[in-house]
Amino acid sequence: MSDGHHQTAVYLEDTYLTAITGHVAATGGTADSAAWVAVRENIFHPQGGGQPADRGWLGECEVAPARDAETGLVVLHPRDDQGRTLGDLAEGDVVAARVDADLRLLHAALHTAGHLIEAAGRAQGWVLAGSIHFPGQARIEFTPGETAASLAGPEDREKAADRLRTRVASAIADDLPVTAEQDDEGRRVVRLGDLHAAPCGGTHVRSLADLADVTITAVKMKKGRVRVSYTASHRPLK
Ligand SMILES: [Zn+2]
Repeated sequence: MSDGHHQTAVYLEDTYLTAITGHVAATGGTADSAAWVAVRENIFHPQGGGQPADRGWLGECEVAPARDAETGLVVLHPRDDQGRTLGDLAEGDVVAARVDADLRLLHAALHTAGHLIEAAGRAQGWVLAGSIHFPGQARIEFTPGETAASLAGPEDREKAADRLRTRVASAIADDLPVTAEQDDEGRRVVRLGDLHAAPCGGTHVRSLADLADVTITAVKMKKGRVRVSYTASHRPLK
């Protein structure tokens, strides 16, 4: 492929745009691996930042998006159980692209709820140490710093969990807007109203009332870290 292919990260601009008629920006591959295709108007979130990749399709072929280290593009690899490939596509071709909308909304809900739990943890004096937003294993980890002693017993951790739950419920009741903007250094910063701001390249809901079933399932201590496990879903779209 040649250099200079342009790709727009549509998934960062609109979480809810899950199908688009786009154009092939580039194709690639080697003799011993299947060809990949990159789309100019890219609606596919690649795995990263603790968020899993979207499930998607180009035409009828199921594809797996991934960030290509060489080109920096989000490229689509065929993962079709019917054996369909992307081999016939060429730069400039028009393609129908779509992602699994239900899974997109679940990922966005889990990711946004993760930010919200991060904010609630920071309010207790904890420092963010890691985030995983995968369905079924979503958790936010913190270093507790000087508050570690107050988390020693199970009843202490349950009290901490209740404080988190109260803050989370309050922010959802306030329906804080979720926005993204570039900061002075060109980073994308995601905000939950005035409650929270963090650099992030994931997909998010529009405002916190889009979240449903945000549940903090456990607060545990693991290797000196506070691990807050949670589940969340997206409110049904009207
Ligand atoms: Zn985020």
